[in-house]
Amino acid sequence: MDDRMSQEALTGDPVALARALIATPSVNPELEATGTGEAAIAERTAEWMRAWGLSVETSEVAAGRWNVVGRLAGEGAGPTLLLNGHLDTVGVAGMTVDPFGAELRDGRLWGRGSCDMKGGVAALLSAAARIAQKPTPGTLIVALTADEEHASLGMQALVGAGLGADAAVVCEPTSLAVMPAHKGFVWVEADFRGRAAHGSRPAKWAWTPSVTRAVTSLRWMH
Ligand SMILES: [Zn+2]
Repeated sequence: MDDRMSQEALTGDPVALARALIATPSVNPELEATGTGEAAIAERTAEWMRAWGLSVETSEVAAGRWNVVGRLAGEGAGPTLLLNGHLDTVGVAGMTVDPFGAELRDGRLWGRGSCDMKGGVAALLSAAARIAQKPTPGTLIVALTADEEHASLGMQALVGAGLGADAAVVCEPTSLAVMPAHKGFVWVEADFRGRAAHGSRPAKWAWTPSVTRAVTSLRWMH
């Protein structure tokens, strides 16, 4: 990223912030071996938030994997609002544009993470920059996390450390719809006992009852 891009981002302009974020690679190394993790982007976002007047803490949740938390204490006993986004992106294999070029063309921004979710992080950082200009009764927390695209190590660390708020806005892409809830995911490992058989000859090995039970159980869990 050049100095001009960095200076423009510092103004809090959302497009300038999104471009600067895209130009700072943060591919999750668990998804692509050449991924650099969040060190560089954590340093940059921490720098911006400090310049806007937030108190900022960075923490390395695993080797090369960084969280950044910015806080703006309110002047009264108002509620605490959490703005949340992740700093890592998926890989860049197969992309036909420069993943880190952050090119603006025909009113669109091109590059890895422009949608998920450097655009969202730019929006919440821009909001934080504006909120910091004027005292508010409540407290603002900006939580930028590592590793959302793989095992959510960053958010797990923050939850483990007791991070809490009265309300939260997660700026994942939703085509601008307000989503009051989000589905999670869960891994289930199950063992089913039965007679092993090849799928091409089920009748011969009389395996159907145990498979039927397995499928019924999976449907129930779903
Ligand atoms: Zn995302």
